Amino acid sequence: MSIPTLTLNNGVTMPALGFGVFQTPPDETTVAVEGALRVGYRHIDTAAGYANERGVGEALRRSGISRDQLFIETKIWINDYGYDETLHGFGKSAAKLGLDTIDLLLLHQPLSSAFERTLGAYRALEKLLGDGKVRAIGVSNFMPHHLEKLLPEVDVVPAVNQIEVHPYFQQRELQALHRQHGIRTQAWAPIGGITFYRPGFSKSTLEDPTILEIAKVHGKSAAQVMLRWGVQQGRSVIPKSVKPARIAENFNVFDFELSADQMAEIDALDSAERGGPDPDKITLENFSRDIPEA
Ligand code: NDP
Repeated sequence: MSIPTLTLNNGVTMPALGFGVFQTPPDETTVAVEGALRVGYRHIDTAAGYANERGVGEALRRSGISRDQLFIETKIWINDYGYDETLHGFGKSAAKLGLDTIDLLLLHQPLSSAFERTLGAYRALEKLLGDGKVRAIGVSNFMPHHLEKLLPEVDVVPAVNQIEVHPYFQQRELQALHRQHGIRTQAWAPIGGITFYRPGFSKSTLEDPTILEIAKVHGKSAAQVMLRWGVQQGRSVIPKSVKPARIAENFNVFDFELSADQMAEIDALDSAERGGPDPDKITLENFSRDIPEA
């Protein structure tokens, strides 16, 4: 099945649904991505910081799918921020992925404690874009105050901001700001995966009674309903799984439609409570991670 695409602010198109590999162990990544490609996913979201770009690259090679049919996204980790460091970071990621060009390259975090380095890193993304090494550039985990600092300083408006969005944490104000600037919202933890992080935390979007009720009406799962909700709101969604049945299930969201009432019921579940870390607390002191050479 081919899936709908989203057009980014520079005209590049991206599949509306992609495949995430955060926390996919390096030795399981190739098999998981091969499985996703077999099901029909063509967009893979990885990151230098996930330590599994090599496994993604191996799956791409083994698949035999032509390069122009694939949309590959990765992210520069904060240790590689700064102009020269980020240019080098691109080289490391491209080599591990076995690619000459990357479709979408993001800055993984705002690094507000050293924002000058973030600006240098973003200018390197602009250079890579100008040189045709990447087809689109963007950011991740930027909050409104980070975008407001970035935008006046740069030439290219980010094509994407990849942020936590699921029914329990919707960031509607930030999404409105994205619309105002032509930035596409890409939802990480689109089925609320992040809610599994907290020991003893019972609140899971996958067990939410409202979502389960809507799922029943459509003969779908809670995960499929959440992905459909994201796609219908124009977001890019990038669910992760290492389980073949779930990989297939998460892809199968284009044969049903949620009604306006059902969309509103899911909108009403927002708890405004972040599942992931506060982006302002991600510093070089507490989240340092050296990204090895290719
Ligand atoms: P998701 O919302 O995609 O949820 C993933 C979790 O849900 C995993 O534990 C997975 O387990 C489980 N799962 C997957 N499908 C189903 C299903 N159909 N039914 C029940 N459980 C299911 O969360 P992620 O945090 O992984 O986010 C998705 C992607 O977003 C990441 O992989 C990554 O690419 C990106 N991301 C980016 C971040 C950033 O800072 N920019 C932060 C976090 C994520 P299992 O694998 O065992 O199936």
